[in-house]
Amino acid sequence: MGRLLLILGILFLAWMGYRFLNKTWSARVKEVEHQEQKKFQEQPQKVQQMKACAYCKTHIPEDEGIYKENHFFCSYQHLDSYLEHKK
Ligand SMILES: [Zn+2]
Repeated sequence: MGRLLLILGILFLAWMGYRFLNKTWSARVKEVEHQEQKKFQEQPQKVQQMKACAYCKTHIPEDEGIYKENHFFCSYQHLDSYLEHKK
């Protein structure tokens, strides 16, 4: 009888432990999901304007490129190449 109670006790503790872990885990998952969602919702405001390089036509964020004579370039090399070809 004592053994049965011990087994039941262990099972009960295991079940409680499982429930506890499950609860903290799902809380963690929910938290991560919430953060991801927040990140996703914040993203549109942070999305940078993409511009095509006048030389290679590659689209890159506007603040990473160079403006020169109303044209946009992905790098100084392409700026130079473009001006070179224009001559
Ligand atoms: Zn380019």
